[in-house]
Amino acid sequence: MAPQKRNNAPKQSEYKDKDKPTQIRMSNIEAAKAVASAIRTSLGPRGMDKMIQAANGDVTITNDGATILKQMQVLHPAAKMLVELSKAQDVEAGDGTTSVCVIAGSLLDACSKLLAKGIHPTSISEAFQKASAKSMEILEGMTTPLDLNDRESLLKSASTSLNSKVVSQYSNILSPIAVDAVLRVINPAYADNVDLNDIKIVKKLGGTVEDIELIDGLVFDQKTQGVGGPNKMEKAKIGLIQFCISPPKTDMDNSVVVSDYTQMDKVLREERQYILNIVKQIKKVGCNVLLIQKSILRDAVSDLALHFLAKMKIMVVKDIEREDIEFVCKSLNCRPIASLDHFVAESLGTAELVEEIHTGASKIVKITGITNPGRTVTVLIRGSNKLVLEEADRSLHDALCVIRCLVKKRALIAGGGAPEIELSLKLMDYANSLTGMEQYCFREFAEALEVIPFTLAENAGLNPISTVTELRNRHAQGETTAGINVRKGAITNILEENVVQPLLVSQSAIHLASETVRSIMKIDDIVNCM
Ligand code: ADP
Ligand code: MG
Repeated sequence: MAPQKRNNAPKQSEYKDKDKPTQIRMSNIEAAKAVASAIRTSLGPRGMDKMIQAANGDVTITNDGATILKQMQVLHPAAKMLVELSKAQDVEAGDGTTSVCVIAGSLLDACSKLLAKGIHPTSISEAFQKASAKSMEILEGMTTPLDLNDRESLLKSASTSLNSKVVSQYSNILSPIAVDAVLRVINPAYADNVDLNDIKIVKKLGGTVEDIELIDGLVFDQKTQGVGGPNKMEKAKIGLIQFCISPPKTDMDNSVVVSDYTQMDKVLREERQYILNIVKQIKKVGCNVLLIQKSILRDAVSDLALHFLAKMKIMVVKDIEREDIEFVCKSLNCRPIASLDHFVAESLGTAELVEEIHTGASKIVKITGITNPGRTVTVLIRGSNKLVLEEADRSLHDALCVIRCLVKKRALIAGGGAPEIELSLKLMDYANSLTGMEQYCFREFAEALEVIPFTLAENAGLNPISTVTELRNRHAQGETTAGINVRKGAITNILEENVVQPLLVSQSAIHLASETVRSIMKIDDIVNCM
């Protein structure tokens, strides 16, 4: 093939293969589209779930786009961009992770049509950027402002996000939890973001999702330590220590050899004395609940120490993870204590009640009635098996993110394909005011957005073509909130169905999808350096 070409076009550079960029672009588009079409069937309340089997045999059942893509072993570099896209949406908005990929896939389809017409990739990329900016504007114009005191609307948006999940039957239980959790950790008056680290999710196997609990306080999914020690403490004084109550160890490469019995006796006595000292000091300060950070160097607390602590009626919870320390301190309003010298009364937190509770086959420790608590909450999720439990966690995360989006940007739009079709119509209109290539690109961009209502209809078992056409007609007649009512299998005013979603989710989906598509457009070669 190559020598022939050289003969036919002698003036062209020897090293330039003009077909290559087109081929690379096409293969990139195909690869990314394959990823998008893989998760298309998961979109919407009637979307299907995926069962993902990992290399180590772990099974995950999920409906969340970001989770599906994260687990997929994607090899093609362009396809990986779609995985990253979904992750980006997860970080930015938390919901809409399936939509973002579906939109990107459809935009790529539009690109290949435009490329086939001979439009230069750079022109496409520029036009798409303008189209995406215009979309942001149009979407802003469609919003209903929201007041954070409007609990009804918050609940509706959380339910919309939960409706498409595996655990959708529990959406009426999960959505109030999500709303309350967020409202408790922020100050509605001036909050403009939510730190989801202030909401701790504890997962515990057993029970059903209905048993989910929002706890104003702290929960540890460990049991208390020590035999004969207390497992319920009223008027608790809680110390969180980061040092160990066990005999110090020698360095890795040293060892102490004890050869005679009297020496051995002495070592044991010393150890006993050393530990007793620490425990006495703790008792003296008035601490009666001890939380001990997990230690990797040596036992955080030795059996002997547990024995003494139990005797002195000090409740012990060990193995507090390093990353939880900040949360625990914030909730209890206490300070982490790094050495015995700093073990003073001012560092302790106080609470009405600390108690160990049986749940199913295991135990948890609950701290309630904290004095001067920080703005944190704990959600205890229950589930009858690991698969449900994990998915309930992910779904709740999405719902929390939806509420967070509403705190960040207090605006709602209708769901059910309404924003996308409206956007598509308005962009088509706007395209008429443009000229040349740009108009072509705008039109394709606008048409590509119809993929969301199309897919929602398809997944709900409706005829996608007739549904989308009717939807388009209704919007053209000015019904801006007409959407696909998947339950009735018809097109109705979607606001009456209470399907609303944050503006931020839709905006960021379109913005991020077009960014990714633009960067895929601009790639003309793949260089392997392996
Ligand atoms: P994502 O991961 O993108 O959030 P979902 O599976 O949650 O994907 O589907 C979101 C889409 O489903 C949105 O376009 C939303 O408007 C739509 N949707 C959610 N609930 C309903 C409903 N009850 N009726 C119609 N459309 C809905
Ligand atoms: Mg969703």
